[in-house]
Amino acid sequence: MTYAENHIQAADTAQQAMSLMQAHGIPPHPQNFEIWFNYVSGRNPDLQKTIDDLIDSGDGFTGQHTDELYAQFFSIMAEGIQVSEAATLLDDQLQRLMVALNEADGNTQNFGTALAEFTGALQSGGEGDLRVALAQVANATAEMRSRNSTLENQLEDSVGEIRQLRDDLDTMRHEAFTDALTGIANRKMFDHELMRLATDSQEPPSDLCLLMLDIDHFKQFNDNFGHQVGDQVLKLLAATVKECVKGRDIPARYGGEEFSVILPETDLQSAVTLAEQIRQAIGSKKVVNKQTNQDLGRITVSIGAGHYVAGEPLRELIRRADEAMYLAKNSGRNRVASETSINHTGLSDIAETG
Ligand code: GH3
Ligand code: MG
Ligand code: MG
Repeated sequence: MTYAENHIQAADTAQQAMSLMQAHGIPPHPQNFEIWFNYVSGRNPDLQKTIDDLIDSGDGFTGQHTDELYAQFFSIMAEGIQVSEAATLLDDQLQRLMVALNEADGNTQNFGTALAEFTGALQSGGEGDLRVALAQVANATAEMRSRNSTLENQLEDSVGEIRQLRDDLDTMRHEAFTDALTGIANRKMFDHELMRLATDSQEPPSDLCLLMLDIDHFKQFNDNFGHQVGDQVLKLLAATVKECVKGRDIPARYGGEEFSVILPETDLQSAVTLAEQIRQAIGSKKVVNKQTNQDLGRITVSIGAGHYVAGEPLRELIRRADEAMYLAKNSGRNRVASETSINHTGLSDIAETG
């Protein structure tokens, strides 16, 4: 598609968004526009389905609906506001640096002019001219030296501040998208990455799978050994999952004691095989209380695997992987089940317990 066609299409989408907003009595402020532009563009099937459901309900749109839709589908951007404030500060510093550098360039030019005049005076040979020109060069040199040292200080300050801001920015980004306990991706990151990878998987078409993983009888474990020991288990589990996956796969803490792994360019069979490796790796770890050296036995997990159908709302994929996980639970726990088992009894399709 050419740039012009893209442009025409965007204008068309914008127009449709405005008409729809008008039809539903929605005030045309930027947040609403962003929501409805995305709705019309069809880029986010989950957003589309949620709005369609709202339309079907006939309840009309309130400011609260807008806030909720925005928080649900654009929260990654809301999170980005903080980050972009830091980025603006960084930008300001860079601008100041550019101004200082331009000024330095101006100073050098002045110095160059004084030198050129001095050379001219040398050639014309007049002693008076020469003395004046020499004084000018001396002045220009002194001025440049003083300006340069000011500039040097300015540069040092700027570079220091820029470095600090860049570090702050990295920390902010990291914290916003990382689970504080386990250090792997948090739910926000999961949502963002799943959306990104689902879009990527459509053009050119490629497989995308999702694993949902839940610890077996974890409540009992917490009851027996305490919540803090339970937290240590969550850390161990996250580290184990991370060890089992490759660079482009994304393990995340989905919530509480539930984890997920997004597997781009992976077919369902390979996803089940990997899930089985993860299950065995976790089951093989001896859990020991580091403080008391008490052997706490082993923990096991149940895992469900789902395969993304191009264009479907992502919640459908999550639902299937979740259902497969519950099937694994209901079939005895400590096992892997695939979405293909959901519709029948499932038992025959469930991987053997190791
Ligand atoms: P099932 O095999 O059916 O999954 O049993 P379960 O006990 O693991 O499942 P259930 O959903 O009943 O309980 C989940 C428990 O996970 C509840 C809570 O004690 C524990 N849990 C959830 N989040 C955390 C957490 O952040 N830290 C700790 N230590 N425990 C958590
Ligand atoms: Mg659970
Ligand atoms: Mg559980």
